[in-house]
Order: sequence, then structure tokens, then C-alpha cells
Amino acid sequence: MPFSLLKYGFSRTYPARRDIPPTPELKRYYDIVIIGGGGHGLACAHYLSKYHGITDVAVLEKGYLAGGNTARNTTTIRSNYITPEGIAFYKEGVELYERMSQELDFNVMFSQRGQLTLAHTEATLRSFKARAAMGTHLGTRTEVVDQKEVGKLSPLLNMDYGGPLEILGGLWHADGGTARHDAVAWGYAAQASRRGVEIHQRTEVTAFEISGGRVRKVVTDRGAIACGQVMIATGGMNYETALKAGIELPIRCYPLQAMVTQPLKPWLHTLVSSVSLHTYLVQSSRGEVVIGGGSDPYQLYSTRSTLDMKEHLAAGAVHLFPFLQNVRLLRQWAGITDMTPDYSPIMGASPLANLWLDCGWGTWGFKATPVAGKRMAETIASGRVPDILKPFSMERFRSFRLLNEMGATAASH
Ligand SMILES: Cc1cc2nc3c(=O)[nH]c(=O)nc-3n(C[C@H](O)[C@H](O)[C@H](O)COP(=O)(O)OP(=O)(O)OC[C@H]3O[C@@H](n4cnc5c(N)ncnc54)[C@H](O)[C@@H]3O)c2cc1C
Repeated sequence: MPFSLLKYGFSRTYPARRDIPPTPELKRYYDIVIIGGGGHGLACAHYLSKYHGITDVAVLEKGYLAGGNTARNTTTIRSNYITPEGIAFYKEGVELYERMSQELDFNVMFSQRGQLTLAHTEATLRSFKARAAMGTHLGTRTEVVDQKEVGKLSPLLNMDYGGPLEILGGLWHADGGTARHDAVAWGYAAQASRRGVEIHQRTEVTAFEISGGRVRKVVTDRGAIACGQVMIATGGMNYETALKAGIELPIRCYPLQAMVTQPLKPWLHTLVSSVSLHTYLVQSSRGEVVIGGGSDPYQLYSTRSTLDMKEHLAAGAVHLFPFLQNVRLLRQWAGITDMTPDYSPIMGASPLANLWLDCGWGTWGFKATPVAGKRMAETIASGRVPDILKPFSMERFRSFRLLNEMGATAASH
């Protein structure tokens, strides 16, 4: 046993440093109340306190810190989207991840090892060409690669299917990567609480008191609190939370599942996903192969996992890498994802003057954690929505200016 551990264990004079203080008493008023202690809520609290000098902030979390989708996601980070608005937004997200460990003084284990999306049909390849052209134009590292190059990028891929599942090429995105999800959340939480932000775990928002077009009080199971401004960032519960304020978001919720294998020696050096097989794989820093795919095909508020999905993901993974058939599965889990009709988030103003939305993160919001936090903090602090967020307004559903990212999110999130 290391000596320092014994020293901490037995000595009263060496208390372990706590990254996050225990939950304090709720005050009667905060300048800003953030509902949801996932990555998005915590990132916003960090940027408010560090860059806008606003520290009278309470983050209210009904369970434990980052126990929602932040804890359940497969951590794909990338910016190879379809629309110019989406690419610009997620590109800023990737750039913030590149500097995040320094920003938070916390190792978030950002690993920029590139993402390879496989094309099994000519139609997919054509759509990749359009994505690569748009991505390159907007400054991301996104290119179409041929069969030979795919084989070099991921040498253990089964290239010999023939028929409809033959690999014709791929979309190679050198900017893609992963980060440790709990480190991201805890890094933001530690920074924000060091500056005076209060994080209230086990504090559920149950209602709002509204008058004159504003939220006057946020009602919780620990009492009601008055507030200057409020942000909703409750992940899979966003539809329900907004409804408590009388706002019906264009969101439907579906379970999304993933699973991991037993740890293996490092062999998968990029993220690999297949549009046709609806399966993606990445090897974690612990050696486990993380396997994910599409959402369940029915609406449900449940985090149970199913045999159907396990079989589907296992079949896809074995198809791509046949040697995985002998590898054991370690665990499988699910999260509830808040899906919008155009597979893009809803950020910015709500019909209530002091209520802000950071919603609709569906299956794609982990990569946006820093950029959404930074830009929502800017919005709340200034009262103005920055240009980069304007396309993601709730208003777009009324004016039919949708941002269709379905083709970019379906297979690999
Ligand atoms: C299996 C799976 C794989 C995924 N893979 C990826 C991926 O590879 N890449 C990617 O970019 N995204 C991915 N996602 C999506 C990503 O996880 C989410 O979009 C992202 O984590 C959303 O973060 P958040 O902070 O908004 O929400 P969350 O992390 O869910 O945090 C919201 C918090 O709000 C709390 N809350 C809810 N209601 C209340 C209430 N009434 N009062 C107080 N607190 C409340 C919840 O307990 C929760 O902790 C995946 C999701 C799943 C489920």
C-alpha cells in the first residue's frame, strides 16, 4: 500500500482535498439557477464564473453529479457534420477540447486519434464527398479515402465481405477523438465551485412560479428559490422540465444503448463507424472496446438495456472485426436521449424572458459540452444570443429553417 495513502487514512492533519464541497443549504435567491448537473450545466457554470465574473450561481441536480447522459455516452468528439452552421459550432467544440485539460487544470484524457466512417454504397460515398468538401471549406480535417487507405487506417477491418457490405471507402476525420466523460464533468464542477458556484446534488426541480412572462421562482424538493435567470440543461428530461414552465419543446425521447467488451491490448487506433451496419467502435483507455449504434425504435423513458440491441451491436462489431466473436462483453447500458426533428440542438431564448434553453442534445451532445457551456454563458451574461447559436433557436421550427443533421448523427453520434 502506498505510504501516502496510509498517511491520509490515519492522520487527522492530512485531510484529503475535496474537488467539490458538500451540498450547502439552499439560499432564497441566486442570480442564475442552472437546472441539471450534467456536463452542459457544469460547463456553463464554469464559463459564467471564470469569464463573466458571475458566481452567484446554483446548479441543481436531482441525482448525483453527471449521472445522466454525461455518464452514459460513448464520448465521440468530432466536427464532420453536414450543415455549415453545425460544422462551425462543433468545430469550436473540438478546439475547446484540445485546450480543455489546461483550461480546467484537470486531465480530461482528450485523445485525438481520428474518426473513420465507412461507406458501403456509392450513395454513401457521394454524400461523404459533399461532407468532406463542406468540412474542408470550413477548416476541419475531413476527407474521403479509398479502400486502400481505409485498410491502412484500420488494418484489422474485414475488407472482404463482397456484396452489399463491401467497404468502398470512408470519410476520414483527423480532428475526431474521445475524452474521459466524468473527468470533463468533474473538471468543470471543480473549477466552478472553486469560484463560488454552489452545486446542489439531490435537489430536484418540481415546478416554476411564473408571472409577467418571467420565472419568479424555481420550486425544488428542498424549497423554492427566487432567481434572476434560469437555464434548463436536464438532458433526457428536457421535454418534461420545459413543460413544467408551460413550454412544449419539439422533442421526443428514445433510449440509446451502448456496451463494452472485456479489456484488450491496444489494437483499435481510430474511431470506426459504419453507416450501413449502424454500429461504431472505439477502444477506451482501459482497453475495453466501446460499441454503440442507433437509438431504440420507440419512445420510452427508461434506462434498461435489451437483448435485441446487444445482438444487433455484437453482429455489427463482429462483421467489421471478426476476431471479436471470441471476446466477452463486460456491460451494457442505456440513456434517455431528447431527439429533435432535425437532429440539432435547441439553444437560446425561450418564450419566457429570463428562461434559457440548452436542450435537444439527443445522441450528439457530449462533444458540444464545452462550446455549449461557453456560448450559453455568454448568452446569459449578455442577454444576447451570439451569431454562432442563432441558427439553433427554438424559433426555427416555426419558421421552417431546420438544420438537417440526421445523416451526420445516425451512425456515430
Ligand atoms: C448511450 C449513449 C451514447 C452517447 N454517445 C455520444 C457520443 O459518442 N458523442 C456525443 O457527443 N454524445 C453522445 N451521447 C449524447 C450525450 O451523452 C448527451 O447529449 C450529453 O451528455 C448531454 O449532456 P447534458 O449535460 O445536457 O445532459 P445530462 O448529462 O443528462 O445531464 C442532465 C442532468 O439533469 C438532471 N435532471 C433531470 N431532471 C432534473 C430536474 N427536474 N431537476 C434537477 N436535475 C434534473 C439529470 O439527473 C442529469 O444529471 C450519447 C448518449 C447516450 C445515452
